[in-house]
Amino acid sequence: MEVRVRFAPSPTGHLHIGSARTAVFNWLYARHTGGKFLLRIEDTDPERSKQEYTEAILDGLKWLGLDWDEALVYQSRRLAVYKETAEKMVSEGKAYYCGCTAAELDDMREKALKTGGKPRYDGRCRNRKDHPADRPRVIRFQSQSAGATVVEDLIQGRVSFDNAELDDLIILRSDGTPTYNFSAVIDDHAMKITHIIRGNDHLNNTPRQIQIYQALGYDLPAFAHHPLILGEDRSKLSKRHGATGLTQYREEGYLPEAMVNFLVRIGWSHGDQEVFKTKEMIEYFDLKDLTPSPGVWNQEKLVWINGDYIRNTPIDRLADLALPFFQKKGYPAQKDDYLLAIIKDYQVRAKTIADFAEMAGFYYVEEVQYDPEAKSKFLGPDQLKILEILRDRLGGLNQFEKTALEGIFQQVIAETGLKMKHIAQPLRVAIAGVTVTAGITEVMTVLGPQRTLSRLNRAIRSINL
Ligand code: GLU
Repeated sequence: MEVRVRFAPSPTGHLHIGSARTAVFNWLYARHTGGKFLLRIEDTDPERSKQEYTEAILDGLKWLGLDWDEALVYQSRRLAVYKETAEKMVSEGKAYYCGCTAAELDDMREKALKTGGKPRYDGRCRNRKDHPADRPRVIRFQSQSAGATVVEDLIQGRVSFDNAELDDLIILRSDGTPTYNFSAVIDDHAMKITHIIRGNDHLNNTPRQIQIYQALGYDLPAFAHHPLILGEDRSKLSKRHGATGLTQYREEGYLPEAMVNFLVRIGWSHGDQEVFKTKEMIEYFDLKDLTPSPGVWNQEKLVWINGDYIRNTPIDRLADLALPFFQKKGYPAQKDDYLLAIIKDYQVRAKTIADFAEMAGFYYVEEVQYDPEAKSKFLGPDQLKILEILRDRLGGLNQFEKTALEGIFQQVIAETGLKMKHIAQPLRVAIAGVTVTAGITEVMTVLGPQRTLSRLNRAIRSINL
C-alpha cells in the first residue's frame, strides 16, 4: 500500500519551527517509503486565517526543500462537503442539532464545576425535537458515552481514553464552518492518508477523531504523535527561549539543509551520526526510530551543524547567500572575485551566513573603523616603528602573494628580533581594525597592495597625531 502522509498547517501565523519539524518528519517518511507528501491548508477560521500566512508557510517549506505532491488542499474551499456530511450524520442519528444558548452553556459549565465535575456538554439536545427554528444551531457529534477509545500510536504506544471523558463535540458551527476534529477526519479520509504524523498536542483529539472515523465507517489511518520540542529549561519551546519562527533562522543566516538536519535530530536518531546528507536522511528515516521522550532545542548544536554545512558548501553558493547580508549592512559588495576570495578565507570561520558580513565588512570600507581596545593595544607609539618598517618593505612589492609576504615577515623578524605576533597584530589592526581576521597574508592578498598600504599609512598617521 502506498504511504500517503500530510502536513496540515493552520495559516494563523508564521511557520513555527516545531511545525517545520513535523513537516520534515512527514516529508522524510514519504520520501523514504516512495509514498506521497501532501499539503492541506486548514483555513476554515476566516477571522484568524490569512493568505499571507499561507504564503509564508509555503515559502518556508520550499526554502527547506520540502516539496509536496499533488494539488494543495484548502479547507475553505470544501465547506460544502463538511456541511453535507454533518447533515447526513444528523439524518443517520450520528449527530444532532443543538440550539443551546451561550447562557445555557455557561450555566451547564458552572453547575459542573460546582459539583466538582469537568465542564462538559451534557448532551441535553441529543433527543430534543423542539428546536426553535429561529435560533442559531450547531451540529454536535453524538459520541460514545460508555467504554473506552484506544489509540494505537506508533510512537506513544497504546493510549486508552475513557469515553465518559469525551463530550459531544461541535462538528459544525452555526455559521456552517466545520471544527478542526471534524474537517481533519473528512479530509484525511478524502486524501487517503495512511499515516498521521503530528505533534502530541493532538493526542487528546485523536479519540474524538477515531470515533468520527468509526461513525462514518472509514478505515482508520495509523497515528504517530511525536513529542513537542522543549526549550533548554525543559519547558515548552516558546519565544522566551529565542526565535520560534522559521523565517527568523533564515534571516539569521542558517542554511536550510542545516535546519532540516538539526530539526530531524530532535527526537530521531540513527546511531550516533549527527550530520546527514539529504539522501542519507531519506534512506535511514523511519517512524520506529522516533522517540516518545521530548527533545530539547540545543542552540549550540544548531550553530555547530550550520558551521559544518557552511564548510561543505561551494564558495559560489555561499557568495550568493552572503551577498544580501553585506548589502544590508551597506557595504558596496557584488558577486565578483573579490567577494569569492573573502568567502573562501572566512568559510572555516563562519557559523552562520550572517557571520561573513559581520566579520568581513572591513574589506569593503573606505576607512577602517578601529576597535577601540584593539587600537589602544596595537596602534600606539610602541608599534610605530614596526608599522613603518612594514610599510617600507611592503611598498617595494608590486604584487601581493603569499610566499613574498611571508619572506618579508621572516626578514623583519630576523632584523628586529620581534616575534610574528608582534608584527602581525599591529598590522592586522591597521588594515582590518580588529584583532581577529583570516590569516594575515590571506587578508593582505585579498585587499591587495594599494588598499593595504593606504590603510597602513593611515594607521601610522593616526599614531603620529
Ligand atoms: N491544523 C492543525 C495544526 O496545525 C493540524 C493538526 C493535524 O495534523 O491534524 O495543529
